[in-house]
Amino acid sequence: MNRVEQGRSLLRRWEAAKPTNFCDDDEHLRRTLAFRVGPARLAPVEALLHQAGGDSAGPVSRACALLDRPENLPRLEPWNGIGERTEEVVFHPAFHEVGRLVWRSRVLSLLGEPGNVALHTALAYLWTQNGEVPHGCPVACTAGLIKAIQRCGSDWMRREWLPRLLDPDYDRRWHGAQFLTEVQGGSDVGANACVARPIPGEPGAWRISGEKWFCSNVHADLSAVTARPEGAPGGTKGIGLFVVPRRLADGRPNGVFIRRLKQKLGTRTLPTAEVDFQDAVGYQLGGLEEGFRVMMGVIINTSRLGVALGSCGIMRRAWVEAFTYARVREAFGRRLIEFPAVREQLAEMRALGFAGLSSTLFLAALEDRLTLAGTHPEDDPLFRVGVTINKYICSVDGGLVVHHGIEILGGNGTIEDFSPLPRLYREMPVEESWEGPHNTMMAQILRDALRSKMHDALLGKAEDILLGIRHPVLKEMRDRAAAALADGRSRFGRVLRGDPEAAALHIRGLVHRMARIFQVSLLLEETEHDLAADRPTPLPAVAELFLNRYVVAGYDPMEDAGYGDLVGRVLAS
Ligand SMILES: Cc1cc2nc3c(=O)[nH]c(=O)nc-3n(C[C@H](O)[C@H](O)[C@H](O)COP(=O)(O)OP(=O)(O)OC[C@H]3O[C@@H](n4cnc5c(N)ncnc54)[C@H](O)[C@@H]3O)c2cc1C
Repeated sequence: MNRVEQGRSLLRRWEAAKPTNFCDDDEHLRRTLAFRVGPARLAPVEALLHQAGGDSAGPVSRACALLDRPENLPRLEPWNGIGERTEEVVFHPAFHEVGRLVWRSRVLSLLGEPGNVALHTALAYLWTQNGEVPHGCPVACTAGLIKAIQRCGSDWMRREWLPRLLDPDYDRRWHGAQFLTEVQGGSDVGANACVARPIPGEPGAWRISGEKWFCSNVHADLSAVTARPEGAPGGTKGIGLFVVPRRLADGRPNGVFIRRLKQKLGTRTLPTAEVDFQDAVGYQLGGLEEGFRVMMGVIINTSRLGVALGSCGIMRRAWVEAFTYARVREAFGRRLIEFPAVREQLAEMRALGFAGLSSTLFLAALEDRLTLAGTHPEDDPLFRVGVTINKYICSVDGGLVVHHGIEILGGNGTIEDFSPLPRLYREMPVEESWEGPHNTMMAQILRDALRSKMHDALLGKAEDILLGIRHPVLKEMRDRAAAALADGRSRFGRVLRGDPEAAALHIRGLVHRMARIFQVSLLLEETEHDLAADRPTPLPAVAELFLNRYVVAGYDPMEDAGYGDLVGRVLAS
């Protein structure tokens, strides 16, 4: 075989080495999920996870590459042939084929039973290894709407809408969207100018007018829309939450007019539009005064968890692509994985991916526990602060991990039809901006910290976990993590007591540390569980690398004679 043929045959070998099932190939997912939800809860859905893992790695992966081509993107057809406004978004047939597989996985129908958010999260994570899928955002929005209606919807909403939103049959199902953002600024929802006017004689029914600037999954059957009832106070206090059906009972548009679809950096297969509401009929969700709270606490928190799991899915895919590649591709007569610099990048990708999935599944399982105990999750300080911080850290890490993956694939990493990595890379800044860009969330965390020391809930949980770790192998790591925690806590306290502008300047650094401490405590907890079960696991090495690189201040790998060996242990399966 000549050199050219040999090079190409290695690429063929790479393609053949990629997993055919994203679930079966992901030991960390299966173990962490079993640890967080318990084997009894997991057993009935194992077959669903297996099926979704195979579909995601196979037909869905192929369809997502096809759908992202410019000629296959969704397009708007606002009028029909006889001049009536129809506001149709037209999709490539593969869009619906993927949707059928995603919906039949029961990723949404599972939410009909309380306590299934962690299982929903695991399924969604498998799908998002293809990025936006293109049903990642629709699944997250529909999940948020389901939970909001379960929480405070009227009897007829539960009767009429819930069964459709929970239907696993894609061709019958209804799906949801959520529209807050207006052109004058998305973060400042209190500046919303959309207006709601009551419809006389129809309690709970309103007419919504105004403009929304970013409307993803714009063709959804039901959209949760923020609007200010006429005469209501300014700021977020006066914001109500309404569910607006896309169509009237006779099939005509319900005063929801799409101006145009946006041309985006990433998530291009998902239609995101600018929309005019012109006296659209909307139905009040919950009491008017609790609208903003339900939107943020139920719907946006669900989407923030969705962004985190989506980022984890992308990190996992980037690792899979790069790891399989590095094991077969050769340069200078060596396989890439033999180069220490490549090994270190791969180890970092793996550690960040593990940490993200661990914190995301922890929070999903926490939501389940709170719901089953009859507590509203958003009233729990650990859940509230945890979801926000986790969305930040996972989406930041997602960009870095995909970037590493592209680098490991070299020039090939930048080529659209060579691997999914360019597409996944373009998705990451969009994920980061969704449901609050980082600085906006930092402002929220700072407000919560100043008002009620909410950050203590996260640090307290990390401390409890660390105190519970007893395994002799982990003692030294536990103590170093605990020292970092004590340091982080005292810095946080100092900053909060100081000048508010300085606090706003430093909050991101503090939150970053806090997120890492939280993640390492979860990794150590899982490691102890694996060690107790006496099974081979890369987790002790992953936890150690993570602790050294991201938690302990002043760690210098150059001063650590065991660093190369540690990197090797992280990469061992
Ligand atoms: C592809 C795409 C799809 C989207 N789909 C939807 C959707 O379906 N529904 C929807 O409602 N929205 C959607 N969004 C909007 C998204 O959630 C917003 O972009 C986001 O909430 C921020 O609003 P903004 O873009 O107006 O930024 P701005 O609010 O103008 O913020 C700009 C910058 O200022 C910073 N900033 C703002 N306030 C503060 C503060 N108090 N302290 C410190 N920094 C601050 C922000 O962090 C950011 O860095 C979508 C966005 C994109 C890119």
